[in-house]
Formats: sequence, structure tokens, C-alpha cells
Amino acid sequence: MKILVASQNEHKIDELRAMFKVSLPHIELESASSYIGETHIEETGKTFEENAFIKAHFVHLATGFPVLADDSGLEVHALYGAPGVYSARWAGENATDEMNRKKVINELLSEGHSESMAQFRCVLCYADSLRTVFAEGTCIGTVSTTESGTSGFGYDPIFRAEGNDRSFAELQPAEKNALSHRGRAVANLVVTLSELLANDEPSTMQAVVEPIASHTDDFEHLVRAAIATATNNIKLLQDIIAVHVHDVPSATRMYEVLLQSYLFGGFPAALDSLTVLHRHCSQHLPAFTLPAWNEQPLAAYKHQGMALAGQVYGSVLDPMLERLTDVSPELSAWMILEGYGKTLSRAGLDIQTRELCIIAMLAVQQRHTQLFSHIRGALLVGVPRAQVKAVADLICELCGAEYVEEFESILKKLSD
Ligand code: IMP
Repeated sequence: MKILVASQNEHKIDELRAMFKVSLPHIELESASSYIGETHIEETGKTFEENAFIKAHFVHLATGFPVLADDSGLEVHALYGAPGVYSARWAGENATDEMNRKKVINELLSEGHSESMAQFRCVLCYADSLRTVFAEGTCIGTVSTTESGTSGFGYDPIFRAEGNDRSFAELQPAEKNALSHRGRAVANLVVTLSELLANDEPSTMQAVVEPIASHTDDFEHLVRAAIATATNNIKLLQDIIAVHVHDVPSATRMYEVLLQSYLFGGFPAALDSLTVLHRHCSQHLPAFTLPAWNEQPLAAYKHQGMALAGQVYGSVLDPMLERLTDVSPELSAWMILEGYGKTLSRAGLDIQTRELCIIAMLAVQQRHTQLFSHIRGALLVGVPRAQVKAVADLICELCGAEYVEEFESILKKLSD
């Protein structure tokens, strides 16, 4: 089984690999960058938990693979818990480990300390299509204002674990892993994870969707179904379902498209469309059961929603939410919680195909402002321009050329 690690820090990945090799040797950890490149994930959380969650869900949504994210840092007693979640960028956005250590040392010296009590904290977040699991580990010790040792990374040269006279940077990797915050977090996670994974069907351990760029072969009939729903063309929807829904995966993807349509076309349209699917499956596909709903605390949906909306809207998310809040705070909260958090984050359909279907619905309803945001969003989440263009062709075929005039001009604007 493969788990992607949502980190670009090779040191962390090496440490996690060494620990998993001992505790869960059948699990292969691979850097997420093989799938999503050097994509920068903005760590907007105020706690290790939030940031670990954001990273894990970002990568899971982008790839469909089970993901492990680590958010960790140093909390120094004399600095009131700093640098904490800002450990990686304590001396600035592009600071090196050395610059961060020097800043901590200078701050301690300027307060008249030659050392201080401190702790390393690590929060791991594991996310797959069925669940999100957190585990935490802490390592209490001392930071000093002199550096020693050359192994490890980050603040290792200035940190000594309690009862240890050598710094983390003077320990062998296995010695550090045995007492580090990360080692303890992994030990805690392994207990929960091995129980959960042992009870899983093998299929849940596979990627629910293929990595970006190879998953969208069947998007055309899903887009047609979205158009049929938005235009209340039940006959067309029945025909599409009759031809294309022939096994459990195809029924699941169709279910997701019709369910999400309530966000863009309203509850009645979604209910009518889901009823068509339900009738078809009862008659022709008894093996299909509705995807399990993994109920989570509201805060988890909210984080999940913010993480996904961040992917789709990029840097315009904050100003967009501000504008939306001016119009209606309820609608703004609903969009993140219900829309992006509960519905569009569901496993079973990749965000790229979701965006193609959303674009189709908005275009046939002539919602031009939102259409602009979602065409931009589709491109941001990695949908090839040719597929966006293919949606325009389908709309033209089913509804007429007048529905794609604005579409074409948005696409052109976005390429300028
Ligand atoms: P993150 O990538 O936001 O989790 O940042 C973690 C930062 O915390 C790293 O860049 C290091 O500065 C620090 N850190 C976390 N774990 C360790 C460790 O095991 N040794 C030294 N520094 C660490």
C-alpha cells in the first residue's frame, strides 16, 4: 500500500520512512511531489493540527491517494512558545534553517538567557477517502544558544532532549527517531492506523481517483448529465444514465455529479435527477449502494472547505469571501461548509471533473460572474484548457451557440 507524504522536506520524509519501515513495513511512503510537483500549499492554520489537516487534505483531494502530513515545530519556554507553527519561517518566508536558529539564539541572548526549556511538537494527519486521523508527539528538552552537531535539520543543533547531553544533531538517526516528537507521533498513529487499515477492504487503499491528467476520459457524459440537470431535461438524463451507468464506479461518479448539482441548480433539480439514477440502479445495478457518508465534526468540514476553496480560487479566495460576506454572511459560511466542505470534498469524484460539470451548469444558466471564477478555478486545479473548451462544445451541441458566447470570451480573457 502506498501513502503519499505531503511535505517537501526531505529530512522529514526520510525520518518518517525509517520509522514506518520498522512499524508498518508493508506501507510505502512516497513524496507527494511525484504527483503534484513543487506545488506550494499555503499553511494558513494557527495550530499544528490545522496545518497538518490542510496539507493532508490538499494532497488527498488532488491525487486521491491516502496521505500523511506532518506539521511540527519548536516551542521555546522563554519565548512564550515561539516559534511554534512559524518554526519553518521564523526568520522570514525564505529563511534557511541556519537563519531560523540564529534568530532564536539572538532572541534568547537578548532576553539574558543562555538556554531555555523547550519542546518539539509534531502533529501527523492521515487522510484517505474514508477518514481523517490525527496523532501527536512531544519531546521535552532544552534549547541552548550554542550549536553542536551536524546531522538532522532545522533546530536540531540547539536542542537536547530531556536527560540527554547530546543535541539532536549529534545523535544517530535511529537514536533521534526513538525519542523525537515525530517518533512519538508515529508510534501513536501506528496504533490507530494498523487497526483501521486491517479492517479495510483492499479497494479503499487504492487511489479513489487517478492522479491528475489521466482521470478525465469519461468526463463528457458527466458534463452532459450536469447540463441535463441544469436544464431540467429528464429525458436526456435518463438516456445518458442508461448508456453510461453500467457498473459501481460509473454509478458513483454519476451520483456525485447529480448530488453536487444542488449547489448550482437547487435542491428540486438535484432530487429529480438523483431519483432517475436511483431508479436505474434499482433495476439494472443492484450491486450499487450509496457511498458511505463519513460524518465529521463541523470544524473539520470547515477546514476541508477552506482548503478546497483555496485550491479553486487561489489568491482571490479571501477578497471573494469578503465580498460575499458583505452580501450575506450566511451564504458565505454555507459556501465553505456545505459547498466546498461537505459536498465538493467528497471522495468518489476528482475536483477536476467536478469543476468541468460546475462550469457546464453555470454556463447554461448564464451565471457569468460565477462562470468566470470556475473556468479560472478549473485551470488552477490543473484541468487542461482543451477539456474546458470541450465543455463549451458540448453546451453548444445540447443548448445552442448562444450559451457559449460568454464562455468563449472568458476563456480568451484568461489566456491573455
Ligand atoms: P513545517 O514544515 O511547517 O511542519 O515546519 C517544520 C519546521 O519545524 C522545520 O522547518 C524545522 O524548522 C522545525 N522542526 C520540525 N521538526 C524538527 C526536527 O525534528 N528537528 C529540527 N527542527 C524541526
